[in-house]
Order: sequence, then structure tokens, then C-alpha cells
Amino acid sequence: MVYYKTEEEVELIRQSCLLVCKALAQVASLIRPGVTGLEMDIVAEELIKDHKALPAFKGYRGFPNTLCISTNDQVVHGIPTNEEFKDGDIVSIDCGTYMNEFFGDSAYTFALGEISPETLQLLEVTNTSLYKGIAAATAGQRIGDIGFAIQNYCEKTYNYGVVRELVGHGIGRSLHEAPEVPNYGKRGRGAKLKEGLVIAIEPMVNNGKKEVKQLDDGWTIASKDGTLAAHYEHTICVQKEKAIILSDHRLIESEIAKNSNVNKIAIRTAELANV
Ligand code: MG
Ligand code: MG
Repeated sequence: MVYYKTEEEVELIRQSCLLVCKALAQVASLIRPGVTGLEMDIVAEELIKDHKALPAFKGYRGFPNTLCISTNDQVVHGIPTNEEFKDGDIVSIDCGTYMNEFFGDSAYTFALGEISPETLQLLEVTNTSLYKGIAAATAGQRIGDIGFAIQNYCEKTYNYGVVRELVGHGIGRSLHEAPEVPNYGKRGRGAKLKEGLVIAIEPMVNNGKKEVKQLDDGWTIASKDGTLAAHYEHTICVQKEKAIILSDHRLIESEIAKNSNVNKIAIRTAELANV
């Protein structure tokens, strides 16, 4: 069942998404080599609860924390630990909130300290592919057009591996609603996109082959070949001319700009998504 949202519902989802991005922005201001994932997790949980909202992932199917923190070859669903981040780590952080009966979902990959140009390119390309996917998400287009835009850019242009096992999703009163939004696909295939459809688009891209494995903790997904992986996610609402991006990475990026321990990736987002 696909639920199309009213303007009021879209606004509530936006509020939940903005809280996610505030939490990620707080993390962006603090993250550096020497801090731990669990420290970031506590900061995010407190900020969310201060806004009378709930962390959406904590307790979801038994997930223990507020943030999914996935470092280096880990793609998604990493459990925060008390291990310190190191210089040269890339750290993907995914966060969800539940507020006023609606969910928000967004993710960002941070590059700490000394990072190779090759790694920065992986982050830039994955981030850019997210906006290419968003640009394809207009009414009348199909789910496959979103996946095609992401896959074509990441795999054809850059030879990266786009993860198949995990996908984007509808979002609203549930964290994961229909439809699934794969990061791969064929143009003109899949369900037609209509105004009011709210979806999370979230490319997960490996600097190697597309295959992934699950770690023994039962949660963490990592690239099978051990190559680095990046993950960026926005929640968006499909409209006629151009999608509305409900989450706001500018909140995160303005904190990164002030944090000398985090690398700035080239951000060519708004123009790409035509938003
Ligand atoms: Mg997410
Ligand atoms: Mg998601």
C-alpha cells in the first residue's frame, strides 16, 4: 500500500527530518579522531529527546542505538561502539526520528582528518548520485528512473559498486513504507511516481564490487571485498516540476565547514537536483 501525503503530513515529515539533520549537525560539530561512536550516539539521542521526539532506530527490530554508525568498509547499520575514530576514517551516520506521528530519515558520510583524493572522490560521487536520483524523482517518472540515475553515474562513470541488497523506501507514519526505492534500475520501469509520494533516497556505494556481507553482530553490513563504502540519504516529496527535499544537509555542512577535523567534499547539490 502506497500512501500519498497531504501538504500537512509532508510538513510534519519535514519537521521530523529537520530534527534528524539537527542531530547530525550536532554530530558534525563534534566528530573528530579520538571521539567514539557511542559518544556521538548519546549526543544525538539527547538532542532528539529534548525536542520531545523519539529516536526512530532505537528498538527498531531490536537495534540498540539512536545512530547507525558505519566506518570505512562498513556500508550501513553499524552499531555505535566505544572505539575511538581514527585519522583517515570515513564514518557514515544514519539517523531517524519519530515526532508528531511521523518519521524522518537522513544519512551523511564524514571524512576525518587525512583522506586520500580517491576516498574523497567516492564520497563526492555518492553524494552527487543522491542528487541525481532526486532530480529524477518527479511526478510521471518511475521508480526505475531514480535507480537508473544513481547506478548509471556511480557504475558507468566511476566503476563503483552500487549495493543491491539495501534500498530506499517510502516513509511517513511508518519508518519503512512502500515503495522500495532501489539505487539501481532501468529507465521507465517500476511504479509511476505521483505528487505527494514521500520517499527516502539513499545510495550506498562501494569503492569496489557491489557485494556486501553481514557481520557477526547481526546488524552491520560491510562491503564483501573490504573496499570503502559511502552512504548519503535524503527524505524527499515527489512533486510535478521538482521534488522537495525535506531533510536539509546544509545544517550538517555548515557545521563541517567550521570543523577542521572533517574534510569538505565538493558540494554541487542544489543545481543538480534542480531544487
Ligand atoms: Mg536512514
Ligand atoms: Mg532510510
